[in-house]
Parts: sequence; structure tokens; C-alpha cells
Amino acid sequence: MTTIILGGGLAGVSLSAFLDGESIILEAAGRAGGLCRSFDFGGGKFDVGPHILFSKNEKALSELLSSCPTNRLRRSNRIFHAGRFVKYPFENELSALSAGERDRCLREFLDNPYRPYPAQNMLQFFLKTFGEGITRLYLQPYNEKIWKFDPAFMDTQMVERIPRPPDEDIKKSAAGEATEGYLHQLYFNYPKEGGIESVVRSFAARARGKASVHAPVQLRAIARTARGWQVDTDRGVFTAPKIVNCMPLHELFRYISPPDHVKEALAGLKYNSIHIIVLKAKKDAIGDNFAVNVADCGIIFHRISKLNFLGGAYAPEGGGSLIMAEITFRPGSDAASWSDSALIARVREDLHSTGLVDKNDVEDAVCRTFKYAYVIYDLAHKQNKAQVMKYLDETGIPCCGRFAEFEYLNMDAIIASSLEMAGRLKKHA
Ligand SMILES: Cc1cc2nc3c(=O)[nH]c(=O)nc-3n(C[C@H](O)[C@H](O)[C@H](O)COP(=O)(O)OP(=O)(O)OC[C@H]3O[C@@H](n4cnc5c(N)ncnc54)[C@H](O)[C@@H]3O)c2cc1C
Repeated sequence: MTTIILGGGLAGVSLSAFLDGESIILEAAGRAGGLCRSFDFGGGKFDVGPHILFSKNEKALSELLSSCPTNRLRRSNRIFHAGRFVKYPFENELSALSAGERDRCLREFLDNPYRPYPAQNMLQFFLKTFGEGITRLYLQPYNEKIWKFDPAFMDTQMVERIPRPPDEDIKKSAAGEATEGYLHQLYFNYPKEGGIESVVRSFAARARGKASVHAPVQLRAIARTARGWQVDTDRGVFTAPKIVNCMPLHELFRYISPPDHVKEALAGLKYNSIHIIVLKAKKDAIGDNFAVNVADCGIIFHRISKLNFLGGAYAPEGGGSLIMAEITFRPGSDAASWSDSALIARVREDLHSTGLVDKNDVEDAVCRTFKYAYVIYDLAHKQNKAQVMKYLDETGIPCCGRFAEFEYLNMDAIIASSLEMAGRLKKHA
């Protein structure tokens, strides 16, 4: 039983590896990998935002870690706040703040008037769980910056499982006693070489012999036939009894015509795009840290990462450092039309103004932009998604993947989803 797989990101490629039968992957880009591709620069490699491997799902994690040799690393992330480094997560090192901000965060955590209320949106969740100080100084501006959407209009799906830290931990954090938060990501893995794309390549190798990858291919039409499905493309017509959508929903719906209420629901599903800028610098002031979050809205990027941290294969040729800056934007906003050179110039200036990298130390830079980066959990997400999925279910097109399921899925969740999809397809074979 052959399956047509639309989209050759991690979801499509891992699904082809898990399926018993043959599959045909139709991928629009020049090669498979999607958001898990890695790109050469400065003698190293960079991902679409550094992709680290971690999970609470043991099966998915073991699939990922057995795919290629990895380095095991201990998180060393910081928040750059008011000219200082604060250990990540913010609430775990309140002692690094100025005395006034530290006391405010502690006081408003312990004596929090919002605590008894149920949280109806992301902002209310932060206020209820962390108090006004931690929320207004870091969580609110950082989330506004990454989502480009007011957290008061986002639901709590992303955050509702974050536990309220015990009072004792916050007192210790204000007193300068080291504590760690988000323990499930304290250690993570990263491919020893090749960037995160090594993981996709390994799944592609597992699928060799039973999967054929067509890339780049341009879809023209998708139609149901008496025997299954027919996909018309610039590289011929492909037919198979089964089809699975692993590409973004907004792409799939270019080739099928749903009723108006489904079109409206699809239009309501919101996402962010991302600019990735990587600079090669002679030196920096980031130290042995990996990722640094910046909530300050005057600085264009929300996060920078020092790629050297990931292992020897990721340091630039001839020494120095590779620094990645991430800038999210809403499709259609002003930031969507910035040129690569304007973005690079602005990142250079902002790094210089923070003191993290002197602009005169920057030797080279590159910029790449990706349309689908983050699903936005706005207040209508659940309802819009349910309408779209109900229609696809009735149409007989199952979906597997981050923008195919329209959920904030990391690589581990993608593997869990493609394993589940392979199981479902086998059952119905
Ligand atoms: C900035 C950033 C940082 C991240 N960091 C991490 C991390 O640290 N750890 C982690 O586990 N996960 C991370 N992720 C998530 C991870 O990238 C995703 O979970 C995973 O790559 C999703 O795979 P996918 O196949 O579902 O989607 P995609 O990778 O989006 O694949 C979809 C595929 O469909 C193709 N396509 C699109 N349109 C068409 C069309 N018309 N015809 C044919 N094909 C089409 C695309 O080219 C693409 O190859 C991060 C994501 C981002 C954006």
C-alpha cells in the first residue's frame, strides 16, 4: 500500500521510515528537512534557530538520539536584562537583578492578589503564577516580542503545565542561592556534526528503498479518485491509495476547496515567520553561555545563541564565534519586507549597543527567512483548528506535523505523532 506524503520535513521523512509500505514524498524545497535543515556558514553549520534534543517522552527521545552521534550538553542560558545577565529561567536568579527589582519581584510573588483567580489567558496565567514583578519585567515583554501578539489574547495551552514555584525557591533565588528550573531541559543533546539536519538524514537513510523523495516539486492539484488519491505536479502525476498531509495547512488548502466556514477558520489560524541572522565575530562578551533571551523591545532580536557551545564542529574556521540572532514577525507586517542587508545591519548595531558583540569585530554575516516558524495560540486557535480538522477528517486527509496539525510541536512530539500515524495507517491497511 503506497502512501503519498505531502511535505518532506521531519514529520514526512520520519513517517516514511516508520511505515511498512512504500511512500512518495512530495517536497517543495530543494531538499527534505523543512525546519530541521542546517546551513553552511563560516566553516560551521546553523539551524533554523538552534534545535536542541530533549524530551519527557522516552520513546521519542530514544528514536532521536539513536539517529546520529550527539554531544550531551548542560544548559547555560541567560536573560539579558537591564545590562545584566540573569540565569534562565528568570525567577531562578532574582538576586542578579538590581536591589529594587529583586525586592519587587519577591514581594509581588509572595503577596500576589491575582493568585485566587482562574487564568483565562496567557497574561493572566503569568500574573497569577509569578506575580506582577516577574511578569512585567520579563515574561510579558518577552512573550510579546516572540509572539508579536498580546499575551492577553493568547490562551493558556502553552503555559498551563508550568507549576507555580514554591515560595521557598523564590526566597532562595532572591537571596542568591543557586537553583535550577525547567529541569527536563537542563541537559540536552545535539548532533556531533552536520547540525540538526543529521537527524532527518538518518531517518531518510532508514526509509531508503521504500520511500522516493521528489524535491523540489510544485503541486498543482490534489484529487480523490475511485482508487485513492491523485496529486498532479510539475514532475508528473502521482497516485496512491493513501495520502498524509505533513505540510502546513495553509499550503494544503491551496489545492483543495473547502466550504466557506472552513476557509474562514483556516484564515483565523495564526502563525509567525522568522528571520535568522548569523554573524561570524572575532570575539564576543557572551562567555560560555549558549542562548541569551532579550525582552527589551528596543532590541530587534528576542534571542541570540553562540553556536560554538554546541561542539567543535560548530566553531568558525580560524577562531572567533558564530552568533545567531532570531527575529520573529507576523506575515504582512513591516518586518516582513526588511532586506537581508538591513536586518544584518540592525542586528550588528543592537549587538553592539548591548555590549555583547562589538560591531567592529563582525567579519561576515548571513540572513535567511522562513515563512512558517511558530503557531500562535490565540484565543480562537482551538475552535478554528477543530473546524479545519473536522473537514479534513471527513475528506480523508490525515495530518501529521507542526503546521499540518497546527500545534506547537517540537521534534520529539513530531516523532511521537509520526509513530502514531504509521500505526494508524498500518491498522487500516
Ligand atoms: C526557531 C525554531 C526553533 C526550534 N527549536 C527546536 C528545538 O530546539 N528542539 C526541538 O525539538 N524542536 C525545535 N523546533 C521545532 C522543529 O523545527 C519542528 O518540530 C519540526 O521541524 C517540524 O517538522 P514538520 O515536518 O512538522 O514541519 P516542517 O519542517 O515545517 O516541514 C514541512 C515541509 O513541508 C514542505 N512544504 C511546504 N509547502 C509545501 C508545498 N506547497 N508542497 C510541498 N511541500 C511543501 C516544507 O518545505 C517543509 O519541508 C524549532 C522550530 C523553530 C521554528
